[in-house]
Amino acid sequence: MLAIIHALMGGFIGEEFHSVLFIILASFVLHFIMDMLPHWDANFDKKKFQASGEPPQLSKFAKAWFIIDNIIALAVIISLYQVFDNKKIILGAFIGILPDLMSLGYKTKLRKNKRYAKFVKFHSRIQGETSWQKSLIIQAIIIAIIISLFFIF
Ligand SMILES: [Zn+2]
Repeated sequence: MLAIIHALMGGFIGEEFHSVLFIILASFVLHFIMDMLPHWDANFDKKKFQASGEPPQLSKFAKAWFIIDNIIALAVIISLYQVFDNKKIILGAFIGILPDLMSLGYKTKLRKNKRYAKFVKFHSRIQGETSWQKSLIIQAIIIAIIISLFFIF
């Protein structure tokens, strides 16, 4: 799932709610719920990873995709922060993206930690999958819905 979507979703929670604890919990949980929706990721061989547990090799395309996606997410969140002048948008957006950033640690010694490895495998298992063509439409609709929510509520 695009980082932009996770950032927007968390950002929206941050904009709507006052409790910092609630924003952190809701943005974190919503990350996994959004990941369950059918989407396409520029990714590694998930089945091989889930079976072997070996750290995945990311292609140059997947790395570039990740970086560009996160840069756009950052730009969107900074814009929303400027429009709504609410620091909690940044908090929610950051927590919304956090599970994906946490998964990056699998490349390090962290993967030897059993709880951490379990978390990364869980995160990989729940991903909804579809073709990139359908994914484009689904994710564009989700982005439009969340941005509308910002202006409706
Ligand atoms: Zn994720």
